Amino acid sequence: MNQISTRCLIIGSGPAGYTAAIYTSRANIAPLVIEGQQPGGQLTTTTEVENFPGQPNGITGPQLMEDLRTQALKFGADIRSGLVTEVDFSTRPFKAKTNNGLEITANSIIISTGASARYLGLPDEQKYSGLGVSACATCDGFFYRGKRVAVVGGGDTACEEALYLSNLAADVFLIVRKPHLRASKVMQERVLNKSNIKVLFNTNTAGLFGEEYLEGAHLVENAGKENEQHYDLPIDGFFLAIGHNPNTEVFRQYIDCDAAGYIKVKGETTHTNVPGIFAAGDVADPIYRQAITAAGMGCKAALDVERFLNEEGL
Ligand code: NDP
Repeated sequence: MNQISTRCLIIGSGPAGYTAAIYTSRANIAPLVIEGQQPGGQLTTTTEVENFPGQPNGITGPQLMEDLRTQALKFGADIRSGLVTEVDFSTRPFKAKTNNGLEITANSIIISTGASARYLGLPDEQKYSGLGVSACATCDGFFYRGKRVAVVGGGDTACEEALYLSNLAADVFLIVRKPHLRASKVMQERVLNKSNIKVLFNTNTAGLFGEEYLEGAHLVENAGKENEQHYDLPIDGFFLAIGHNPNTEVFRQYIDCDAAGYIKVKGETTHTNVPGIFAAGDVADPIYRQAITAAGMGCKAALDVERFLNEEGL
């Protein structure tokens, strides 16, 4: 076992974690970052990022994360691989253990473990990942200008993604497993009134097909009923919008979360219910979920940590 003590442990390495690392490093707090299962977070699975301010020519998701990491290292952040698998927030200093044998004690903690998009669980989703399958219309929609795309889901996210895509793509199909949408009334109306969005109710996706890139989806309408029907829908893009799972499992014993598992923060701050533990990015944000909002929250968490350590004389 490797034992480390730190003034600030940052758990997770997406835009929130790395930004928190840049700010805390520059404030001489010497943070320790544990990168987590997917170093760089969700952005490492996207291709081009064109909406991050200060990148007029666009930048790939992996490159953006590499740049943020380099910037944090430049100011002295201690960035290590590993996954936090166990925590004890009942006493201070807080304790955390990783899957690769680190035992950490920390005066303060920033949780920035992000959220993972839910997938249907079809093997084809992996096969066409980045080749037509995406879980983020805002990130990848632009590549489908004038093309045919499908969005899976019936909630607000799915409707929002379908509307966003309808301004870029020629045709948008919304694949909804139930006979109705779950989204708010206003979103439902917008979707149903949009001429190039077609809602396919009572429909499930059985598989995807295509030579190299995605070319279509195998759909089943009215599965299990007398009028069950199988058909192929030719599409260029397949967007998952069936919800996200915040990565909070390991903290829930100590940290207050909402019904969906997102960490609750106090007001405009990043304070959780445990003094000295802060949350930033998608793990505490079910609404915006953008790289830039996560980065902004990472900055806020770092400033909250700085104040906390000063006030506590730590
Ligand atoms: P939701 O949980 O609200 O909706 C998920 C949707 O995906 C449901 O229609 C669900 O179907 C469907 N779904 C789930 N699993 C599967 C599956 N395996 N196969 C097919 N369909 C599936 O998630 P959202 O991300 O849409 O929203 C999360 C929260 O964020 C909500 O509270 C929402 O209101 C909020 N939000 C608000 C926005 C806004 O106000 N602008 C924008 C985006 C989100 P079913 O209905 O059958 O369960």
